[in-house]
Amino acid sequence: MKTIFNLNDIIRPTIKALKPYSSARDEFHGNSDAMVFLDANENPFENGVNRYPDPQQRKLKSILSEIKGVSEKNILLGNGSDEVLDLVFRAFCEPNQDNIITLPPTYGMYSVLANVNAIEIKAVQLDGKFQPKIDAILKAQNKNTKLLFICSPNNPTANSFDSNNIEKLIDNFDGIVVIDEAYIDFSNEESWIKKINEFPNLIVTQTLSKAYGMAGIRLGICFASEAIISVLNKIKPPYNVNELTQQKAIEQLAIPNLAKNQIETILKEREMLISQLQQISFVSKIYPTDANFVLVKVDNATNRYNQLIDKGIVIRNRATQHGCENCLRFTVGTKNENEKLISALKSLK
Ligand SMILES: *Cc1c(COP(=O)(O)O)cnc(C)c1O
Repeated sequence: MKTIFNLNDIIRPTIKALKPYSSARDEFHGNSDAMVFLDANENPFENGVNRYPDPQQRKLKSILSEIKGVSEKNILLGNGSDEVLDLVFRAFCEPNQDNIITLPPTYGMYSVLANVNAIEIKAVQLDGKFQPKIDAILKAQNKNTKLLFICSPNNPTANSFDSNNIEKLIDNFDGIVVIDEAYIDFSNEESWIKKINEFPNLIVTQTLSKAYGMAGIRLGICFASEAIISVLNKIKPPYNVNELTQQKAIEQLAIPNLAKNQIETILKEREMLISQLQQISFVSKIYPTDANFVLVKVDNATNRYNQLIDKGIVIRNRATQHGCENCLRFTVGTKNENEKLISALKSLK
């Protein structure tokens, strides 16, 4: 029987007691136009970046709020979603005491962050169709289990998890469920961001690194209840999203239909790539994909990986991940890049 979720029972005692650092710009709440700013020991000579960035990224958040249909109060931005995930660990997981559940084969950062933070990892392997095993996951939790990481669409398997099963997990898991939606914009599945006020133990992360084409600026987005967002705000570095990142994101997001059109092109290219891959003799399986990459099983992944490198094409060899034996992961590129990949694959002996 699930215990009633109480955020206060999940937060680390140290964090609950923490008095956050208050920056100069946190303490000033007025209108920023026509003011003289002598509060932050900045160099006064204008060059576009001589001032500290807005620690709450208000302009960027209001744009994202509009795009995503989620209130700004339910959004926290990070230096990539990797920073957001690290904040989640530091807020809720007590080193050398707590544990998390991951569902491999999946994104490697969850384990790395657990190891960095001295948190035990309970790994519950996905089933043969790369779907989560609900009963085994719920059985794996104990009183020190704080987080469950669900990556959907999942990297590297490329599929989405069944939404009824995800809901069962959120409903029955005693800790916080983190749904990593890095690839959601390529998927036909509904995002969970509209459910954050329905489930007090839900965190959803997204990123501008994939569909939005801004991996270089490092911008991750966290959606959760106001209560969870305020805990994360308390521990985030004050100026974690720099000025250039905020400006570039605002500029790119203002271009009408940019991401939408690129996603459409990538999805068309993905279908082309899949149909071409079906003709490659040493490809034995092409897994269903809901993301901007394709996972395929081949005769000898390491050999094929090295052969492609020799032809100047870099892909990802996932063969060492349990459940992905002899699997390669191809990111969908431009038409031209995909054609180069296919012609290289066709030429291999
Ligand atoms: C690429 C990726 C991310 C993105 O991380 P950023 O730090 O925002 O660039 C997050 N989760 C998964 C599963 C990914 O594959």
